[in-house]
Amino acid sequence: MSSQDKAYWETRAEQLTINGKAWINGEYTDAASGETFDCISPLDGRTLGKIASCSQEDADRAVACAREVFDSGEWSRAAPADRKAVLFKLSDLILEHVEELALLETLDMGKAIRFSLNDDIPGSAKSLRWCAEAIDKIYGEIAPVDPSRLAMITREPVGVVAVIVPWNFPLSMASLKLGPALATGNSVILKPSEKSSLTAIRLAQLAEEAGLPKGVLQVLPGYGHTVGKALALHNDVDCLAFTGSTRTARQLMVYAGESNMKRIWLEAGGKSPHIVFADCQDLEAAAKGAAMGIGYNQGEVCVAGSRLLVDQAIYDEFIPLLQKHMQAWKPGHPLDPESRAGAIVDEVQVRTILDYIASGQEEGARLSSGGQRILEDTGGFYIEPTLFEGVDNSMKIAQEEIFGPVVSVIQFSSEDEAVKIANDTHYGLAAGLWTDNLSRAHRVAGKIRAGTVYVNGYLGGDITVPFGGFKQSGNGRDKSLHAFDKFIEIKSTVMYL
Ligand code: NAD
Repeated sequence: MSSQDKAYWETRAEQLTINGKAWINGEYTDAASGETFDCISPLDGRTLGKIASCSQEDADRAVACAREVFDSGEWSRAAPADRKAVLFKLSDLILEHVEELALLETLDMGKAIRFSLNDDIPGSAKSLRWCAEAIDKIYGEIAPVDPSRLAMITREPVGVVAVIVPWNFPLSMASLKLGPALATGNSVILKPSEKSSLTAIRLAQLAEEAGLPKGVLQVLPGYGHTVGKALALHNDVDCLAFTGSTRTARQLMVYAGESNMKRIWLEAGGKSPHIVFADCQDLEAAAKGAAMGIGYNQGEVCVAGSRLLVDQAIYDEFIPLLQKHMQAWKPGHPLDPESRAGAIVDEVQVRTILDYIASGQEEGARLSSGGQRILEDTGGFYIEPTLFEGVDNSMKIAQEEIFGPVVSVIQFSSEDEAVKIANDTHYGLAAGLWTDNLSRAHRVAGKIRAGTVYVNGYLGGDITVPFGGFKQSGNGRDKSLHAFDKFIEIKSTVMYL
């Protein structure tokens, strides 16, 4: 049996030990209250184990411990090359455990094993390594002041950092924050989503094995309204780095204002326009890209191309191609290496998606394919790739983030109209456009209010490329050296000579 067989993964899944404990001060521990909640696998609705439900008391303990180790300087003032070595080791350990971590990710949140194995987990190792590689190559500056003075500009870690992440790319989203936060010397408390805690919990132990000092990375599983809120309101947390919905992001800004004005960085939701112009010569490639843009990770992607803007002139040719390629994203068993799409994270999310599908129909959009919950006999949560035609951009399915495999197709007749529709949203995370006209590519990319614009391709980011949102898709940037800025304070030391 090889990792190319579903049976291989099923056997490994049966042998797996599920650890749902918190990791505080270098030890696995129950929540102070002793409370737990069930970890339910979206593959089949089975309970995998119990997860510690942390709350205020656990947050207080973890923050105190993070502060103590930060102040000790053991990590915060370690030589960058030493921090680099530890993070390299952690990256290596993630790769050594790639199958175990991929399996945990898939069982926990439902994505196809081929992607957790080939994208999420190796991508997480790569993020950590990239940040580690960078940290001993970043220099301070000397300001060009009057020669009677010496003004040094240095970077210091911000202190205790809380990282709160969503469930759609659990380890991967966490690593985008952990890489720069740890490399710059901070103490980090990671709160995974209550829907996907397992890889974060496992990572903690690997970090200790890699040599990260006790308390530098702690993991507090639990709900947003309990332990998440406790961290966000904590007066001794210096910085909060968040990825999740715009609704939660707004709430976190309030918490920061109500507490200690902690630095707050938000990677939030999206409703990305994906535009196909009539001058695109390879409509087959555009249709394939558009299908992947909504099919990948079951559409549970912040940059999902969920509003597909199609030029009237090629509409009739394009839609059948799109329907064909969307079939490739029909869900299969997540542990089958052949499956590209897997399960929706939970029953609640299934209901949310089905409600949006019903709302599209009520508002007069035409359901042209999909729209059904499938594979119910498995006990799991699966939805067909769904295509709506005849959508007006004012409809709920065009304005609100569905976070499922549902694409709304909107027709346009001019470039100006396409840009206007594309920007008619309070989100600004990403956009895509397909055109063979170079001037148009530059012109339209420049006019779209979004943090990332893909031209003649979609998805497939890179750790070297900044990632984040305009408007209500957030602030700050993950990835690249820009991500480091979130986790440092700039200090000016002025010496009078
Ligand atoms: P969510 O906002 O419901 O939860 C995200 C995290 O915040 C979870 O850990 C949750 O427990 C916590 N949380 C919830 N309420 C909280 C509160 N009051 N105080 C503190 N913490 C709280 O989002 P989700 O459903 O987990 O994830 C989906 C969302 O994430 C989508 O909107 C998606 O677009 C977004 N997302 C954005 C990016 C990006 O890079 N911009 C990447 C991935 C996902």
